[in-house]
Amino acid sequence: MNRNIEVRGDYCPQNHYCPAIWACPQGAIKQTGYSAPEIDKNKCTGCGVCINFCPYGVFKR
Ligand code: SF4
Repeated sequence: MNRNIEVRGDYCPQNHYCPAIWACPQGAIKQTGYSAPEIDKNKCTGCGVCINFCPYGVFKR
C-alpha cells in the first residue's frame, strides 16, 4: 500500500482543532495550535481513513 499520504496545507482553513487526529487509528496525525496537521511517516500505515474523513480534502494519496 502507498503510505505516502500528502497533507495539502492550503486546503486546510487552519482555524480549528483537527478531528482527524482522533480518527487516525495509528495516532500518526499531529497538529500545533490550529495549524495544518502533519503526519508522522513512521507511524502512518497508509490506511486512508484520514483521506475519507477530512471534508476539506487535506489528506491525499
Ligand atoms: S493514512 Fe491512516 S495511519 Fe496514515 S495518517 Fe491517515 S488515518 Fe493515520
